Amino acid sequence: MLKRIESSLNCRAIKTISLMLITVIFLSSCTAESDNSIKNQAPIFTSSANFSILDDILYTGYQAKAIDEDLDNITYSISGGTDQSRFVIDSTSGKLSFISRPDFSIPQDKNRDNEYEIEISATDDNQAIARLNFKLSILGQNVFLRIPIVVHVLYQDTPTDESNISNEKILSQIAVLNKDYRKNNSDLSNTPTEFKSVIADINIEFEMASVDPNGLPTQGVTRTQDLTYGDSSKIPFSDQGGKDAWPTDQYLNIWLIDGANRHGKVRVAGRGQFPGGDPLTDGVIVAYQAFGTIAPLAFSQELHLGRTTTHEIGHWLNLRHIDGGYSCEKDDGVSDTPLTSTGFSKHPSYPMYSCGSSDMFMNFMTPSVADNELLMFTQGQKDRIHAVFLPNGGRHSLYNNLRK
Ligand code: CA
Ligand code: ZN
Repeated sequence: MLKRIESSLNCRAIKTISLMLITVIFLSSCTAESDNSIKNQAPIFTSSANFSILDDILYTGYQAKAIDEDLDNITYSISGGTDQSRFVIDSTSGKLSFISRPDFSIPQDKNRDNEYEIEISATDDNQAIARLNFKLSILGQNVFLRIPIVVHVLYQDTPTDESNISNEKILSQIAVLNKDYRKNNSDLSNTPTEFKSVIADINIEFEMASVDPNGLPTQGVTRTQDLTYGDSSKIPFSDQGGKDAWPTDQYLNIWLIDGANRHGKVRVAGRGQFPGGDPLTDGVIVAYQAFGTIAPLAFSQELHLGRTTTHEIGHWLNLRHIDGGYSCEKDDGVSDTPLTSTGFSKHPSYPMYSCGSSDMFMNFMTPSVADNELLMFTQGQKDRIHAVFLPNGGRHSLYNNLRK
C-alpha cells in the first residue's frame, strides 16, 4: 500500500476545512490524489471507549471503528485487557461479541463488577496500530424483585407541621434506594480499590405501592397524626396512636417519625426489623429528618443522603452490622465483609485496620458513619439477602406474593 502525504498547500487547506466540517467526502478525495508521500499515519479510533449493554446477549451491539488518513485497510483485534478472553471481534467489521452469554447476576469479568475491560487494536496495512482501552458495562435488565413500599407518615400536632413531609421528599428516598441497591450510586467510585471486586448489585428495586390492601389505587402514602408520645412500640398500631402496617407479606412498611430530641438532634435515625419477627410490627422506622434528600433534613448530623433507609432496609433483608461492636468474635455471617472491631466516627480515614484486616467501613451496613461515607454492599451480602426469599427464608411469602 502506498504511503501518502499531502501534495500541496491547497490540498491541506481544503483538508483543514473538511476536518472542521467533518465532511469525509472532501477528505478522501483530497488524500486520494496525493501519492508521493513518505510517512504512514496510524489509524485513529472514532468509536467510543465506553459502552453499556443489557444482560444475556452475545453480540454486544458495539462496533469498533477507526479511520485511517491514508485510506489503508484496517484490521481489528483484541490485544489485551483483563477480560480479553471473554470476547471475539470481527477483524473486518469491528463487531464485538461475547464468547458466552454474560449473566448480570453472576459477573464473569475479572473483578466481578460487570464492567469488562479489554484493549482493542486497529492495525493498518503498514502495521501501524491504534489501541483503545475499552470498557463494556452490563446493565442488569432482570430485576429479581421489585418491592412495593408504603410510607406511613406520622406527623406531629397538625398536618402543616414540617414532619408531614411531601411526596416529593418520599420519592427522593426511593430514588436513593434504587441506586444503592442496584450498584448505581454516583459515589460508588469512591470505594477503595481493595474492595471493588466484591461490590454487588443486589438486583432488587423499590417502588411506591400503587394498589392498597383493598385493591384500590394508591400513591403508597398514609398520613396520620402521631399520638404515640415517643413510645416507639406503639408506632405500628392505629389503636395506640400510630398506624397499622399494611400486610407485611405484600408490602415493605416504612413509618416516618420525628426522630429529634428536645435539643433538635436526631437520637435514633432508624430501625429495621429482621425477617422472621412479628408480622404486625414488620418494617422499617425512620426519622423524617434522615429520610430522602430533600429538606427538612438533619444536615448537621450528615443524615442527608438517604443512607439511613438504605441501611435499615438492609436489616429488614437480614443483613447485620459490619462493625462487630468492638469485638472480633462477632461475625455478620458474610464471608467477604472483613471482621471489624473498630467503633467508627462519622468520617473514618481510610485505611483502618482491626481483627487483622482492613476495615470496610464504607459498607452500607456500618453504623454511625456519615451518609456520604457509605457506598456499597458486597456479593456475600447479596447472597444473604437473596437467601431470605428461598422457600425456607424469612421473606419467602413476600417473594411468592410479589411473583404472582
Ligand atoms: Ca464478614
Ligand atoms: Zn443498623
